[in-house]
Amino acid sequence: MRIVVVGAGPAGMAAARTAADAGASVVMVDSEPEAGGQYLRGRARFGHAGVTHLKNTEAWLVEGDVLHVRRTDLPRDETSRLADSGWDGALDRERLSQDETSRLAPGPRRLRFDALIIATGAYDRPLPFPGWDGPGVITAGAAQALAKQGVTLAERVVVTGTGPFLLPVATALQDLGATLVGVYEASSPTRWLREARAITANRHKIGELARYRKVLPRLETRSAVIAKHGDRVTVAKLDGQWRPVSHRTVQADLVCIGYGFLPRTDLLPDARRTGDFYDVDERQRTSVENVYAAGEVTGIGGADLAEAEGVIAGAAAAGQDPPAKAVEAVRRGRLFAQALARAHAVQPGWQTWLDPDTTVCRCEKVRLEDLTDAVSMRELKLSSRVAMGRCQGRICGRNAADLTGVPFDGQRRVIAVPIPLGELAALPEEKS
Ligand SMILES: Cc1cc2nc3c(=O)[nH]c(=O)nc-3n(C[C@H](O)[C@H](O)[C@H](O)COP(=O)(O)OP(=O)(O)OC[C@H]3O[C@@H](n4cnc5c(N)ncnc54)[C@H](O)[C@@H]3O)c2cc1C
Repeated sequence: MRIVVVGAGPAGMAAARTAADAGASVVMVDSEPEAGGQYLRGRARFGHAGVTHLKNTEAWLVEGDVLHVRRTDLPRDETSRLADSGWDGALDRERLSQDETSRLAPGPRRLRFDALIIATGAYDRPLPFPGWDGPGVITAGAAQALAKQGVTLAERVVVTGTGPFLLPVATALQDLGATLVGVYEASSPTRWLREARAITANRHKIGELARYRKVLPRLETRSAVIAKHGDRVTVAKLDGQWRPVSHRTVQADLVCIGYGFLPRTDLLPDARRTGDFYDVDERQRTSVENVYAAGEVTGIGGADLAEAEGVIAGAAAAGQDPPAKAVEAVRRGRLFAQALARAHAVQPGWQTWLDPDTTVCRCEKVRLEDLTDAVSMRELKLSSRVAMGRCQGRICGRNAADLTGVPFDGQRRVIAVPIPLGELAALPEEKS
């Protein structure tokens, strides 16, 4: 049984480990140089005799029972380890030999699988406002990633957005010596009062709040940054729909924005979804045969839920019954994830923060007033160039859809990662 796992975050590592423990031959692919995903950021120290970890390797297309991967600067010993582990039959020999004559580093280009587990996680969602495309504005996720490397970009910082993720980001920046001017949470904490069932099932999450007690005095709810010009940052008090009801100016050098997360679901464009997320059954099976999904691609609920889903996916893909402990952790975790989605749902009033010349798409410099009266995302892209740049709409697509009222088509792309055209052109032609 050959199982390929895409993603080496909490979900992917758990899936790979569980499947290998069940006797499957497992390859875990990740674009990063080390395992850990967003939460552990290279600090996972993953190792398992039954798992070949392909680092610096991007998965870009699922075609039947084949996963296409690229840019493999694998050290040669890792390539031979893959061959030794019996995976050489799964590699495309012709492409391997082509690689040796090209500028590309050696390594597999196609992996055949009996089962595929997608655990590609999520990326954070910023909301635009006047000045968000200028210097001194980054996503909360980027700030956190830099903080984990011991870097903070400025002295006076502001964190703005919605959801509990704002608190670890603010804490990390403060721990690095930054002056935390404010943490602005757009939603009202009273929304959590309606979520007693989820809270009771996840009491440990309340305990986690204690870790962030140092930043709680700086937390203001029903508030958000709605403009930044130089070091002058406009903070508004919001109503329930996030329309500003009053505002004031604070001084800050860096604004970190985080309005929740959007899943990276590009690899399976045709899988059934609910909202942005893959639908999975109780064994983490997607609607695509032999393809499973685990972690934040199925819903946003934190690293522990991602890990438990990974255990279930790994067991199920290897033909085993999922462990009862993981099933229970997923049941509880999903209650929390659903409550989180309700309590911190993005409200439409943010659309009133923009001026006509506010940038919506940073890659293609598309402003609010450039967005056309399109009826579909495709028409909107072709007529305004929004979502046509390097990020391919990952940052701006959802916001542009909300601003124009066109249906958001999820993250449906033919190719999951940006690939230079020359590299695509260099691929050998299909043999019929
Ligand atoms: C930027 C960011 C920072 C975060 N920081 C924290 C934090 O500090 N604390 C916290 O509690 N939660 C944090 N989160 C939330 C956190 O992501 C989750 O709780 C948890 O890591 C989810 O686990 P996962 O396995 O589903 O996905 P992830 O941990 O995101 O792992 C997904 C992995 O898939 C890889 N990948 C994606 N697409 C491809 C592809 N096409 N080919 C190959 N590899 C691919 C990625 O490189 C990544 O390593 C953060 C989220 C983001 C987006």
